Amino acid sequence: MNNATVGKHPCPECGGDLQWNAAKQALACPYCGTIVPLSEAAEGVGDGSAGVVELDLLEALSRMDAQAAMPPPLPPLQQGGVVGMLQSMAATPAEQRGYGGQPREVQCQSCHAISVFVDGRVADRCEFCGSPSIIAHESLGDAITPQSVLPFKISDGQVRDIIRQWYGTRWFAPSKLKRAALTDTLKGMYLPYWTFDAQVSARWTAEAGHYYYVTVSYRDSKGNTQTRQERRTRWVPASGSLQHFFDDELVPGTVGVHPELLAKIGRFPTSTDLKPYTPEFVRGWTVERYQVDLRQAAEQGQERMQEQTRYLCSEQVPGDTQRNLQVQATYSKRTFKHILVPVWLVSYTYGARSYQVLANGYTGALAGERPYSAWKIFFTVLGAVLGLLLVLLVLGGGR
Ligand SMILES: [Zn+2]
Ligand SMILES: [Zn+2]
Repeated sequence: MNNATVGKHPCPECGGDLQWNAAKQALACPYCGTIVPLSEAAEGVGDGSAGVVELDLLEALSRMDAQAAMPPPLPPLQQGGVVGMLQSMAATPAEQRGYGGQPREVQCQSCHAISVFVDGRVADRCEFCGSPSIIAHESLGDAITPQSVLPFKISDGQVRDIIRQWYGTRWFAPSKLKRAALTDTLKGMYLPYWTFDAQVSARWTAEAGHYYYVTVSYRDSKGNTQTRQERRTRWVPASGSLQHFFDDELVPGTVGVHPELLAKIGRFPTSTDLKPYTPEFVRGWTVERYQVDLRQAAEQGQERMQEQTRYLCSEQVPGDTQRNLQVQATYSKRTFKHILVPVWLVSYTYGARSYQVLANGYTGALAGERPYSAWKIFFTVLGAVLGLLLVLLVLGGGR
């Protein structure tokens, strides 16, 4: 994918750039309002997961090694020059880089999130934390192009209802939160994730423990002989093998969203509604550039697969208990994807802290942080104390 061939799916009526519309679940023209269903959209816009590509992980990592072995990057002035261009061409095929369109990138000085605006929009504050200190981020076109995107399913109208309900059940939440949640600080963002696939074949050995019971005689406190049942374990060597395919182990690449919240809003389905990436899906929305790079993410994904493999092997060990499990695993067909998933985000500052309310843009699951309004608590307590005083006065007067 390069900028010349990507993102050229203009409106059939007026030629404007199409954008994904969550409420209509279709591409829409922001200029004339024409709706273009996905199946009728120009070739290259996804109509299913058939076109979603998995990339070879080891090949990509060795390409990154080759890049790392090159001389360090040139100072910014020359970076666009011929040498810089040759460097990046040698290291990375251009068709797998960048986001398409005419993206503008900014980095927040406070939370460090990097926002990409495929439509070239200009932001005046960070959409992740609300900080006004943002600076242009030189993209160098080096980000690995997302292979696929999970388009928004929950529209902004729907998510406002969900947030309103949530706010209604928060005691002592400051009114500022309500204002932030229900006005234009609600942002739709695409977060970067890495997904990893691998085939594992493993051999394991272990000692399987089988319980058996023996009758033991003993003398009680009165000196009489008694018997009781005692459990013993017979250890038997065991071994076996395992074949397993890991499909879409997800590793988040975001720094802008608080990880506890991300963990609470549930999974993003990656097997059904993923579409091959084109800039139409993200134009008009904000994309976060990944900051967990492929190598770090691959290590995290690999660790999780190893834990899972060990667990699956231990499940195979027969008997009632086990010890000394040894697993020898080889992983093959390792592939990865860079995908974008949708979230709705409200961020606001209260006191010195920044708070986020996050909703899954596909399922609507919501998780939020909230401060307690000192004023609301103060007046509630004051009201209770005054009420109590009044009751005492009335009781006292009646005596
Ligand atoms: Zn149009
Ligand atoms: Zn920020």
